[in-house]
Amino acid sequence: MKFIDEENIDFGIMLSKNGLSQTSFRKKLIKLFHLSNSSLSIDEVINGLHNNVDKATVYRALNAFEENGLIHKVPDKDNLLRYALCQKECSPTKHSHNHAHLLCDKCNSTYCLNDFKIPIENNYNGFIVSNSKIILEGRCVDCQ
Ligand SMILES: [Zn+2]
Ligand SMILES: [Zn+2]
Ligand SMILES: [Zn+2]
Repeated sequence: MKFIDEENIDFGIMLSKNGLSQTSFRKKLIKLFHLSNSSLSIDEVINGLHNNVDKATVYRALNAFEENGLIHKVPDKDNLLRYALCQKECSPTKHSHNHAHLLCDKCNSTYCLNDFKIPIENNYNGFIVSNSKIILEGRCVDCQ
């Protein structure tokens, strides 16, 4: 939940690094994720963009971001689709997501808990782990 100085981030370069072409829409979208310190649902993304974009365009861009290691799906108690920014270790070829998430049971915000790593990478006694969902539920600072 750190504050990121947006002035120091070149969103275009970030897109290029992850194998995506730079469009003004994509730049706005990745900036939105940087300005939000929580995860975003599709509706929150559309509201945050402040202009008329159709849902299909947003879905397509989010899918491309996910495939290219910029964002990842995060759990939500209503099973809504939510995304949060990936950390630097993600790339178009490999996402590394063994962190837990904090979930506020009042406003339903989800936060990546990047300093809580699940100590099992991808294999537990022969069991291949493909996805992990550890959620710590409670109240966020705004809802206390
Ligand atoms: Zn990732
Ligand atoms: Zn909350
Ligand atoms: Zn996360």
